[in-house]
Amino acid sequence: MDFELSREEALFRDSVREVGERYVKPHWVELDEGKYPILEVASKLAEHGLVGLTLSSRYGGPDGTFLMASIAAEELAYADPSLAVPVYFLLEAAWPFIVQRYARESVKEEVLPRLTTGEAWVGIASTEPQGGSDVAGERTEARLVDGRWLLTGEKNMVTGVSIALALPYGGGFVTVTRTGPVEAKHRSITTMLFMVKRNGTVNTGFETRDYEEWGRRGIPTSYLRLNNAPVDPDFVLGDVNGGFKVVMEGFNVARILIGAAAIGAARWMLEQSREWIRGRVVFGKPISSYQSVSFKYAELSARLEAARLMVYKAAWLVDRFYRGEGSVSIMDVANASAMAKMLTVELAVETGLEAVKWFGGVSYFKETPVMRALLGVLSYYVGAEGTQNIMRLIVARSLLGREVE
Ligand SMILES: Cc1cc2nc3c(=O)[nH]c(=O)nc-3n(C[C@H](O)[C@H](O)[C@H](O)COP(=O)(O)OP(=O)(O)OC[C@H]3O[C@@H](n4cnc5c(N)ncnc54)[C@H](O)[C@@H]3O)c2cc1C
Repeated sequence: MDFELSREEALFRDSVREVGERYVKPHWVELDEGKYPILEVASKLAEHGLVGLTLSSRYGGPDGTFLMASIAAEELAYADPSLAVPVYFLLEAAWPFIVQRYARESVKEEVLPRLTTGEAWVGIASTEPQGGSDVAGERTEARLVDGRWLLTGEKNMVTGVSIALALPYGGGFVTVTRTGPVEAKHRSITTMLFMVKRNGTVNTGFETRDYEEWGRRGIPTSYLRLNNAPVDPDFVLGDVNGGFKVVMEGFNVARILIGAAAIGAARWMLEQSREWIRGRVVFGKPISSYQSVSFKYAELSARLEAARLMVYKAAWLVDRFYRGEGSVSIMDVANASAMAKMLTVELAVETGLEAVKWFGGVSYFKETPVMRALLGVLSYYVGAEGTQNIMRLIVARSLLGREVE
């Protein structure tokens, strides 16, 4: 048992912190106002080897571990607590990794090196309008016609569609499709990399539009309506009808990084609050001297430490699982990543709610940015890579059995 980062990991953390200070922190509020392009920041991340961090050097990646990705997600969220930049980073550490694991060699060689240089994007298109939690119940139909797959259906709340369309190469989405009867549930799910733009050419058969969001407004999320949208058979990930496990693996790794990002935002909110509660004098004393404030501050700080350890443990398990070390099972990974997301996101939301109370009325005005962080972490409280109830469901099933619904 060792609670210290290795020298390499500590140096890496310091270098990401510096990237955050120089290229992210000065722009995060403008990003959140929609007045600064995320691609400006993304190009700096790519220059510093932070896009596709977990990809192998074989595809131009830096061979980073998920522990390193967790460290980076926390630092980037500390620099941009509205979470737009960490979301860019973490999606590109999680879903391209799944492409690397399951795509045909030719697809990996084409897409992944372009992603690490910041010219391409890979996201996730799972959620449908009738409900995102039931992945095995999704309906987007894929039919094999004249040697290519045609997708028809609707994906809702897909982050990064307009990013993929804006990048020179383009990009695609790990897309959950139905390739058999709905009654077969997870046994007729096939996961494909649906390219909205490839080699500079926009695909056909889809419509999209960005939503207006309450928070984390620096990174766009859209709907994706598919009407006979073509997918080359080489872009199937894993086996036909074997896609459920592919997408679940992606959720497992993404949830850990979401946990790390939530920790970064919570840390930022606690630090902002510390200055404030020590300086704000009401009834002749700093409000930090009142136990209703100081005890909550102490409790949230302790929970932050504990939640970070859960994130690190989940990342450590994932790294061991993929390196084939020890006896880590995919269920251990799924369980730990669900615990990490559950604990961290709730901690971050609670920290935000306390922080806006500590700041009082001024928190409601844009001069005080703490509300932006609360709105950012709420994105992961209401949805995005599985709701908090779904995290409970995963953990409850692993502890109590499959009968838990
Ligand atoms: C900012 C943002 C970005 C997103 N980006 C993406 C993206 O890039 N790609 C993508 O595919 N999706 C994305 N999503 C969608 C997200 O993944 C979904 O919101 C999430 O999976 C939940 O689906 P839903 O919103 O349809 O809720 P529903 O599935 O309709 O659930 C509604 C409520 O019912 C609860 N519930 C459902 N089933 C159960 C159960 N068995 N037991 C207890 N409670 C239950 C849920 O916890 C939730 O509270 C994004 C969402 C947001 C907010």
